[in-house]
Amino acid sequence: MELKITCIPGDGIGPEIVAEAKKALDAVAAKYGHNMKYTDILMGGASIDVHGVPLTDEAVETAKSADAVLMGSIGGDTTTSPWYKLPPNLRPEAGLLAIRKALNLFANLRPAVLYEELAEACPLKKEISEAGFDMLIMRELTGGLYFGERKTVEENGVKKAIDTLTYDENEIRRIAVKGFDIARKRRKKVTSVDKANVLDSSRLWRAVVEEVAKEYPDVTLEHMLVDNCAMQLVKDPAQFDVILTENMFGDILSDEASMVTGSIGMLSSASLNDTKFGLYEPSHGSAPDIAGKDLANPIATILSASMMLRYSFDLDKEADAIDAAVKEVLKDGYRTGDIMSEGCERVGCRKMGDLIVERIR
Ligand code: NAD
Repeated sequence: MELKITCIPGDGIGPEIVAEAKKALDAVAAKYGHNMKYTDILMGGASIDVHGVPLTDEAVETAKSADAVLMGSIGGDTTTSPWYKLPPNLRPEAGLLAIRKALNLFANLRPAVLYEELAEACPLKKEISEAGFDMLIMRELTGGLYFGERKTVEENGVKKAIDTLTYDENEIRRIAVKGFDIARKRRKKVTSVDKANVLDSSRLWRAVVEEVAKEYPDVTLEHMLVDNCAMQLVKDPAQFDVILTENMFGDILSDEASMVTGSIGMLSSASLNDTKFGLYEPSHGSAPDIAGKDLANPIATILSASMMLRYSFDLDKEADAIDAAVKEVLKDGYRTGDIMSEGCERVGCRKMGDLIVERIR
């Protein structure tokens, strides 16, 4: 199979971690007989330096012509980098917002996995962390409170701010379909999170999710109120498979779920549109403090590449090979600095990539 992939190395540690993810993809391609066609584009600070803007129309067209996009990270040190003296619409992060919009990416997926070998990094009680967890938060990305009408007015000398939370049934249906499709590739359970005891938008959310669930009789659906979900994430995270939720709840819960893994360098993510197309990137930033020093953990990006194989190309076996290689490297005691613990061998970014590639082969 030919896989057309646009790569955005980006800024900071971005080029280093994307190089390692490409190595892992090349190893998969060699083993399973695929043909990778990569095209690099500039985004963020790297694009500002060359073109004066964080994303060009040509770069967007190149991204659109691919089957999927693999991204490192963008941005620099926000206090010292000259990029942050520019107006907000010309700063590195504006490129990321623009590409998400141009590609119509409405579904954000963030897995939160606690690896047995990294259980020590988990801030939860030992009896909870020992059980491990492997969940995926599916967050609606283009609707809800963050995109509703807003205004600040003054009435009788009192300032009043208004934000609007709106969802229509089509927006809910398309994210629910994605959630159930992805649950089918996992442990076949969806927890739909809302605030249906208070919000109309949540009552509609719940009704539409139930309607969609009828098309997926093999997937178990449960509903959970968002406040309870926030508690359950720290009390019993092992109960979750796919958490399906709206934009603001997903924003908060996905950060909470990430933090309970305790390892930022391990967290992958994906943003999908209504085709198989997706943009895959680590959840962390460009880590300018360690850029160019061969210190970055490339695993989040390598696992993002694995998500790309699974969700954009339906190459589950190939994705499993990457996931298994990552687990094996951890089991064999290799760690980058960010996940280092006593008795393990500390390695750099390139070496970590090499060790994973060896295990894919
Ligand atoms: P960050 O995630 O870049 O770094 C936070 C801390 O985690 C740093 O100490 C860093 O060294 C460490 N870290 C992050 N990733 C690591 C990895 N793979 N291996 C080892 N250590 C790692 O967050 P920040 O410092 O707040 O932001 C730095 C820049 O990244 C900013 O310009 C910010 O806007 C940008 N950013 C970009 C994205 C993105 O590209 N999607 C996301 C978040 C932040």
